[in-house]
Amino acid sequence: MAAGTILSNAQTNFAHAAKLLDGEIDKAILEKIQLPKERIELTMGPQMDDGKVHLYKAFIVRHNDALGPAKGGIRMTPGVTLDDVTGLAMEMTWKCALIGVPFGGGKSGIVADPRTMSHFNKETLIRSFARSGRRHIGPQIYVPAPDMGTNEMDMGYLKDAISYSEGMATTQGCYVTGKPVVVGGIPGRREATGRGVVGCVAAALKDHGIDTRKATAVVQGFGNVGAATVVALDLLGVKVIAISDINGAIHHPEGLNVGQLNEHVRNKNTVVGFAGAKAIDPKAMLELSCDVLIPAAAANQITADNAARINAKIIAEGANSPTSPEADHILNQRGVLVIPDILCNAGGVFVSYLEFTQETQQEQMAEEEVNTRLQQRMMSRYAQVKAMASERKIPLRDAAMCLALRSVNAAIMAKGLLP
Ligand code: NAD
Repeated sequence: MAAGTILSNAQTNFAHAAKLLDGEIDKAILEKIQLPKERIELTMGPQMDDGKVHLYKAFIVRHNDALGPAKGGIRMTPGVTLDDVTGLAMEMTWKCALIGVPFGGGKSGIVADPRTMSHFNKETLIRSFARSGRRHIGPQIYVPAPDMGTNEMDMGYLKDAISYSEGMATTQGCYVTGKPVVVGGIPGRREATGRGVVGCVAAALKDHGIDTRKATAVVQGFGNVGAATVVALDLLGVKVIAISDINGAIHHPEGLNVGQLNEHVRNKNTVVGFAGAKAIDPKAMLELSCDVLIPAAAANQITADNAARINAKIIAEGANSPTSPEADHILNQRGVLVIPDILCNAGGVFVSYLEFTQETQQEQMAEEEVNTRLQQRMMSRYAQVKAMASERKIPLRDAAMCLALRSVNAAIMAKGLLP
C-alpha cells in the first residue's frame, strides 16, 4: 500500500486531534488553524562554478504565526516539494506550541542535491536563497534553521548574506538559528535535537521498566540528528546495534563502537564499510529486534507495509513524519509506544529559541545552561503529553497534537479575531 505524503500525514494527524477537541475549539478556528497562511515559490538563477547560470526552485511556507514569527528549517533535497514544505511547516506550528516557545510554524525547501554539489556552489545557492527570500525572512517574520541537507555553515552564510546586503558587520536581532557559535550561534544547538530525542528515550525506557544499560537501539540516519542521537545513547549506556545512512546500513548485535564509528564517518563520509560491523539491508535493519527504533532520516519509513514487522518496544521519532498514519494505527494496536516527532525532536527548536533570545539580548549562554534548560523543558512536556494520553486513553501523538492545538487556539483568542 502506497504511503501518503508529508502533507497528508500532517493533515490526518490534525484531523484526529480536531475530532478529539470537538466542542472545545470552534470549528471555523480549527479550519483556519489547519490552512497555511502563506506559501511562497521562488526561482533562483545563480552563476555556478562552471561559469553557467543554473535555475533552482525554492519554497518558503509560513503556516501559522499566532504564537510568534514562523520558525522552521531549510530542507535541501532533490525531491522536496511545496506540499512537503507545507506539511513540515504545519508540524512546526504544533511543535513550537507544544514545546512552549513563542514561535509559529514555518519551513523552507530548496530543490537541489547538496551531495553532488561543490562547496562553492552550495554556498552560492544559500546566498542566492537569502537574496531571493530576503523579504520573507526576519526576526518578526520567519527565522530559518538547518534541516535535511543544510548545516551550521549554511546558516552562517545566510546571516552573512543578510548583514552584507545592508552594509553591516552583523544583523540587528536573530534572522537565522543553528549558526556556528563564533557568529552568534549557541553552544549545544548542533546536538540539541539528538539530546532531546535521547531524553525522551530515557523517560520511555524508565516507564517500560527497562534498564538503559541493558537496552538496545537501532538508528536510521547519521546526519545532524542521527549522529548526535547515537552519541547521547552511547553516553546513557544504551547499546546501539545498527545504524544506516543513505548509502547503506551496518549491524553489530553486541553494540557498535561509537567512537571508532565517528572516526570512520569523519574519513569516509558514510557509515558503510565500518570495520567493526557487518553490512545489513537498510529495510531489514528497521525490523531488527531492539528496545528502541529511532528513525532520524526521511519521511514515511514506517508504513502499513512494514509496521506489523517492526520489532521494537519504543519508536522515537527523530525525523519529521517518519511514521504514516496507517502504520501508527497498527503500532498502537500492537502496543508499540510511538514518541511523536512534534515532541521527540523538539529539542532543536527549543535551543533555537535560546539562540534567538541570546542574540536579541546580545548575551552569551554556556553549553551547560543550554543542556539543563533543554532537558527540563523536554521532560516537562513529555510528562504533560503522557498525563493527557493516559487520562484520555489516547496515543501520545494525539495527546501532543491536542495540547498544541489548544495552545495555538489560546493565542488566536488572546489576540482577538478582528479584522
Ligand atoms: P541531515 O541531512 O543532517 O542527515 C540526514 C541523514 O539521513 C544522513 O545521514 C542521510 O544519509 C540519511 N538518510 C537520508 N535518507 C535516508 C534513507 N532513505 N535511509 C537512511 N538514511 C537516510 O538531516 P538532519 O538535520 O539530521 O534531519 C534528519 C531528520 O530530522 C529530518 O526528518 C528532519 O526534518 C528532522 N529534524 C531535524 C532537526 C535538526 O535540528 N536538524 C530538528 C528536528 C527534526
